[in-house]
Amino acid sequence: MKIETIAIHAGNHTDESTKAVIQPIVMATTFERDADGGFAAGYQYSRSANPNRTALENVIARLEGGADAAAFSSGNAAGMSVFQALQPGSHIIAPDDMYHGLRNQLKQLFVGILEFDFIDINNPEVLQAHLKPNTKLIWVETPSNPLLKITDIKKVVAAAAGQQIKVVCDNTFATPLCQQPLTLGADLVMHSTTKYFGGHSDLMGGALVTKEKDGFWEKIRNVQTMGGAVPSPMDCYYLTRSIKTLPYRIRGHVHNAQLLAEYLENHDSVEKVMYPGLQSHPEYATAKAQMTGFGAVLSFTLKAGEAEAKRVVNSLNIFTQATSLGGVESLIEHRASVEGPDTKTPFNLLRVSIGLEHIDDLIADLEQAMK
Ligand code: PLP
Repeated sequence: MKIETIAIHAGNHTDESTKAVIQPIVMATTFERDADGGFAAGYQYSRSANPNRTALENVIARLEGGADAAAFSSGNAAGMSVFQALQPGSHIIAPDDMYHGLRNQLKQLFVGILEFDFIDINNPEVLQAHLKPNTKLIWVETPSNPLLKITDIKKVVAAAAGQQIKVVCDNTFATPLCQQPLTLGADLVMHSTTKYFGGHSDLMGGALVTKEKDGFWEKIRNVQTMGGAVPSPMDCYYLTRSIKTLPYRIRGHVHNAQLLAEYLENHDSVEKVMYPGLQSHPEYATAKAQMTGFGAVLSFTLKAGEAEAKRVVNSLNIFTQATSLGGVESLIEHRASVEGPDTKTPFNLLRVSIGLEHIDDLIADLEQAMK
């Protein structure tokens, strides 16, 4: 099946009791036992499993080409479950521009429990130099947030090969429509489903997808059900519903993003545009080789500096000044302000999540704001 068909059918089945075409929302927290004390239908208590969560996990696993998926109440909860599944004392290698929420999670919640190094993961010598006997995980985020750096997934997988190191890829910016890390050799994929999967800026969620149902995956499942950071049946239902239009939304997002990137690259006030679909991007060749679309987040810096960047975000009419990404509406933010005092993001940088409005209106809005 093609991805558009999977998106519509893999998370839904006709309800046998009513023949409803759309799977109903099951709000029950507990399920009746069979006469022999068993649970033949597979559901016992909703923290362990719920029919709407199963449906959501099925469709996400299929979209990424994985053996199984686990849904969480946020992207950070999904990431945290991977870290919690590691033995204490394990060493993690992560990119120096890892999404700041997960970087801070490691630095604040796992200090003294796990070891971690934030490095330039794209540099093979630097990566090799940081591998240690206790390295158990390499975290990849590509394209990265907010600098849109591209990591060559196959190269990282090759560096980890034969050493019992799991390679996890945060695929939030790309979505499986633009990149499928498991097919490039990664062991696990992570998503903030709050973004494109949800697509309407109205629900929080996260997901992990595994290539294999191995011992590490069992540990993650254990963290999911024992930790209990699971999404509600309503959130699972709405996510499954949104995913049906994901392939077509992504096409529109990517189309708009490419045109907006090209417009900004030719604008006199713009210093630099960071978007992997531009030939000027330093890792354009890698992006072209491993992606089937370049996503719809871009960052750009303004020649006139921080004050001008802040003026521009406040002069827009269609773009909303807000953090996050992946919704149908376009958002823009002064990223360094969002990341806080330890940010490494340039102060003249604006990050844009390109929505599904008409591209002419988006360009006209930026044109008037940057005058
Ligand atoms: N990973 C990336 C790349 C993100 O952009 C985000 C959120 O912005 C997350 C993970 C965390 O996801 P959530 O906000 O759903 O916890």
